[in-house]
Amino acid sequence: SSPLLQVENVSKTFRVQGKKLHAIENVSFTLEAGKTLGLVGESGSGKSTLGRMVLRLLESDKGKILFEGNDLSSIKKKKLRELRRNMQIIFQDPKASLNPRMTVGEAIEDAMAIHKIGTKGSRRERAVELLERVGLPDEVQYAYPHELSGGQLQRVGIARALSLNPKLIICDEPVSALDVSIQVQVIQLLRDLQEEFNLTYIFISHNLAVVEYLSDDIAVLYLGEVVEQAPADELFKTPTHPYTQVLLNSILKIPDKPENKQEMLSIQGEIPSPLNPPGGCTFHPRCPYALDTCKVVKPEQRKVAEGHFATCHLVE
Ligand code: SF4
Ligand code: MG
Repeated sequence: SSPLLQVENVSKTFRVQGKKLHAIENVSFTLEAGKTLGLVGESGSGKSTLGRMVLRLLESDKGKILFEGNDLSSIKKKKLRELRRNMQIIFQDPKASLNPRMTVGEAIEDAMAIHKIGTKGSRRERAVELLERVGLPDEVQYAYPHELSGGQLQRVGIARALSLNPKLIICDEPVSALDVSIQVQVIQLLRDLQEEFNLTYIFISHNLAVVEYLSDDIAVLYLGEVVEQAPADELFKTPTHPYTQVLLNSILKIPDKPENKQEMLSIQGEIPSPLNPPGGCTFHPRCPYALDTCKVVKPEQRKVAEGHFATCHLVE
């Protein structure tokens, strides 16, 4: 059978200030049902754009996205509704996607009603069941979004997504705004739910440490391009692209004394503007290993090992 999701050479360009902005360039990956792909990169790397393209909230300029073997771009309206239900998203700020004038119970019922799931009588029961499943007490059904904490709201967002029986959930920085202790709980919850409901995740984060726990595969994005892609354990064992190495360094070396801080900040400078990307390898201004060729010649994607690719001239 076909993988749940196949993304093939997709690109997306925006026009900004009369210039072309390559938000996503030639990205490909395959995701099997029940697995998690971690998408990692700094803000501005194109992670959310890619997520929105998968959901077809944004059309791609080039390439193909297949969901269960169906090409999303040629899908009929009716089937698209079904697909929309199958693909849900949870955001960094769950409050922004909740109606402030609806109670939590109403919001979940409403989502189910839009997709014609269950009956008027059964929806509330299912909503409460799901709230319980994500670790919230019954009474939360009567609460308004402003009465809940960030962690509780994220659980509500997850319950609402689950109410539609999705196959794929795009988690767009779902824990970035939460306290570290709450982050761990929410990630653990996502992992338990994945097992229970055979969910497939695309987990978007700027933080490699956060995706490590959940991801089967990881793709590292830099200025709209995947610079390295590998099974998660392989990526942590053998990080090959200098950018991945730098990202890993910054999470593994917590400085013990302030004077050692330098070590941690081995990444130089800011991510360049995607409106004016550097030539050659786009990472070269920040790369500790940059060669003269890197400034002019764009590296190709090279195979490091089975399922492990990196886009760097240093890969033999
Ligand atoms: Fe660094 Fe050159 Fe590799 Fe780019 S191609 S990551 S600049 S070594
Ligand atoms: Mg984002």
